[in-house]
Amino acid sequence: MLPSRRHVLAGFLSAPVLSPYLLSAQAQEGRAPLPPTPECRDGPEPTRAQTEGPYFKSDAPQRRDLAAEAPRGERMTLAGFVVDRACRPVPRALVHLWQADEAGAYDNSGSKLRGYQYTDEAGRWWFTTIVPAPYPGRTRHFHVKVQRSGSRVLTTQLYLPNEALNSRDGLFDERLLLRVTRAADGSFGRFDFVV
Ligand code: FE
Repeated sequence: MLPSRRHVLAGFLSAPVLSPYLLSAQAQEGRAPLPPTPECRDGPEPTRAQTEGPYFKSDAPQRRDLAAEAPRGERMTLAGFVVDRACRPVPRALVHLWQADEAGAYDNSGSKLRGYQYTDEAGRWWFTTIVPAPYPGRTRHFHVKVQRSGSRVLTTQLYLPNEALNSRDGLFDERLLLRVTRAADGSFGRFDFVV
């Protein structure tokens, strides 16, 4: 039986090895060398920027749960780290998410499926949300802005694997694919931002 999204998230948040990047940092400091993640082997590439699109609103609420307002959507938990270009986790980085709903529409008058948070002390972020529907011209995607304090804002988009429309969306970039695992009550998508 598949674990629940909550279980998968708890595993992500409670793993004694907080992050592969921490291990990498320890190795750099001369402690026991451990295998780095693929992203960190040669120094990570900064996460690719993409267009903001027409539906960003700066006045979203600070929250992690966006799904409560979209009860008909297929549940999805998104999570990951924000790390710097030396693979070090970035605490208190801003992560802002906005997306279409289960019908492919954005809420442009209110704040449904919009929210921001700050990474925790280990550089982790997570949202409970829904799978966005595609809309004309676009495959399924999430919009995000990520900002370390005092640094430029990264604006980009995240994609889902195995979507038929990915290959027909000119903006789609496989470097921005979430790593998705199925859960008993939806799915769990992981993406680590390098800023
Ligand atoms: Fe969009």
